[in-house]
Amino acid sequence: MKKPFKAFVIVILFLLIITQPVRATAENLLPDLREEHESLQPLEGSWEFYWESLLEPEDFYDGSPEPSDYIPIAGAWNGYRIDGEKLSGSGYATYRLEVLMDPERITAFRMPRILTAYRMWVDGKEVAGAGTVGTNLGESVPQYLTQQAFVMPEQERVEIIIQVSNFHHRSGGILESIYVGTDDQVLASAKGRLAYELFLFGSLLVMGVYHLVLYYYRKKDRTLLFFAVYCLVIGIRTVLVGEIYFIQLFPNFNWELSHKLQTLSYYSGVLILMLFFREMYRQYVPSWVVKTSLIIVGSFSGVVLLTPARIFNHINPSFQIFSLFASTYILIILFRICRKKEPGAFFIAFGYGFLILTMFHDLMYLSILMSDYQFLNHVILRGNLSSFGLLVFALTHSAVLAIKYADTFNKNEEMTKELLNWNENLEQLVEDRTTDLKESYKKIEEQNSALEKTYQKLEMTSQKDGLTDIWNRKHFDQVLKAEWARGIRYKHRLSLLFMDIDDFKDFNDQYGHQAGDDCLVQVAKVLKEKAKRSTDFVARYGGEEFVVMLADTDEEGTALVAEAIRSGIEALGVTVSIGVSAMIPSANISAEKLIRLSDQAMYQAKENGKNQVVTSIESQADHVTAQSKLKIISETQ
Ligand code: GH3
Ligand code: MG
Ligand code: MG
Repeated sequence: MKKPFKAFVIVILFLLIITQPVRATAENLLPDLREEHESLQPLEGSWEFYWESLLEPEDFYDGSPEPSDYIPIAGAWNGYRIDGEKLSGSGYATYRLEVLMDPERITAFRMPRILTAYRMWVDGKEVAGAGTVGTNLGESVPQYLTQQAFVMPEQERVEIIIQVSNFHHRSGGILESIYVGTDDQVLASAKGRLAYELFLFGSLLVMGVYHLVLYYYRKKDRTLLFFAVYCLVIGIRTVLVGEIYFIQLFPNFNWELSHKLQTLSYYSGVLILMLFFREMYRQYVPSWVVKTSLIIVGSFSGVVLLTPARIFNHINPSFQIFSLFASTYILIILFRICRKKEPGAFFIAFGYGFLILTMFHDLMYLSILMSDYQFLNHVILRGNLSSFGLLVFALTHSAVLAIKYADTFNKNEEMTKELLNWNENLEQLVEDRTTDLKESYKKIEEQNSALEKTYQKLEMTSQKDGLTDIWNRKHFDQVLKAEWARGIRYKHRLSLLFMDIDDFKDFNDQYGHQAGDDCLVQVAKVLKEKAKRSTDFVARYGGEEFVVMLADTDEEGTALVAEAIRSGIEALGVTVSIGVSAMIPSANISAEKLIRLSDQAMYQAKENGKNQVVTSIESQADHVTAQSKLKIISETQ
């Protein structure tokens, strides 16, 4: 980065030197303006210089008075020795020069701003002027006004007289060259300069407003603000210096005020530039630098605001030195930034380099150095190059901002795309997961219900008899216990039928085991059919033995059910012996007794010849006994 930058600096310097117009030498006492040139020529010669006298053409009718000195223009009179005394900027004087002009055509003069008031006569006629020339501060009124003067002389040898007075500016005299040419050339040049100036102003104004709007919508980025303000300040400065378009529009605009604005725009420009770089490359610009700049610029600006131009002018050289330091400092920082290859650094360095060069140029052009070192005239083009430098800088910086923003937008777009993609995928992912989850949930539910069924089955199986699908003995025992307890509480009568298939061994032997099993199933069916009340309970007690428990059923009903079972089974081709017992459960009798009694009754039935129902006597007896006992108790009471 460093090498190209060096090369760039050298090229610019070289260009500045070779584009110099050829100038008349200081010894030229009678410049010849008769010849027409391609372009405007600076009017330079050894002017008669009359210090502290305001002379008019009449004063030279009887020959020239003795001049104080001979002086070349352009250049301030500051520092000239008249009678051993060194001149300051303040004072008044008359310049006089004789030239040769073509009486056949109009010769035009382009008058620069002259510090700070003047009157000009050519060939005895007053042709130009600005402000009011006076011999003291009170009499003179300053004005900057670039003008054109047109002269058609009556003879070849023509005298030019310019009265200049200055009490308002540090430098006095004709600091810039007077240009001479044809009327067309002068008008074209004036128009061109004005166009150039307005172009600068317009460009800077547009850039300033544009970045201000950007900043309004993006307050986070303060570089935008600084840059916008910078453009606007410099834009305003552009119309205040140079051709002074502003003064042309408002010729009576206060000179002091415009001078203040001009100076302040220059001072604040340096500060804003510093702030801008601080904001842009924070880690490169320490805050103390910014603070120091702020204090310096602040105090200089204070002086400008509070004092008239003739006083604050004197601090200008000091500020110029400061701004040289500041500019150099920023240049050094830019070198570092370029070396680190920070984004946009090369663009900014290029623009800033250009700006610095033009600024140096302008400083030299307008500075006190000019009057001290005449040779500088030969490397100086003309004033107000820095506005162009500023424009270049603003353009390169605009480009950097544009690149930065475009980059951000591109990145943003990419990220949005990615995010959208991601979102879409996410949705798909969530959907997939949800489906998976739903499926597995369904599976779990299914498994759950299957498990429940299995479990239920398992539980049932353990309570039911696998062959006949009626309750098994285990369950019978439980139910008997529960019913017994219920019977105790509600004084229910509980009947139990105990039955055993007759000669079943023979049946098996005769028809086979399978037929025996089928028979058992049929028997169970009959039992369920015959004892179908909700309170009836049928179970396989084991082998070919079954039990039927009838809750809350009287003697007669029990006998009926028993008989119905016996005959129902007989219809199947086998017979059963049924033992019946019944009692009202009581706490001091165990349920086993009911089983024992019916079992005994069943054996009695077998003994009696099978295929019959026998009711336990004891149970009846017990029952009766219990009833009579209750009766006895009630009788005694
Ligand atoms: P009784 O009239 O004296 O009761 O004669 P029985 O042959 O029925 O007597 P026993 O108790 O000696 O025989 C019972 C028979 O019942 C023995 C067995 O063959 C048959 N048995 C018991 N359980 C089953 C079974 O689950 N299936 C089949 N097919 N037969 C069974
Ligand atoms: Mg048996
Ligand atoms: Mg039997």
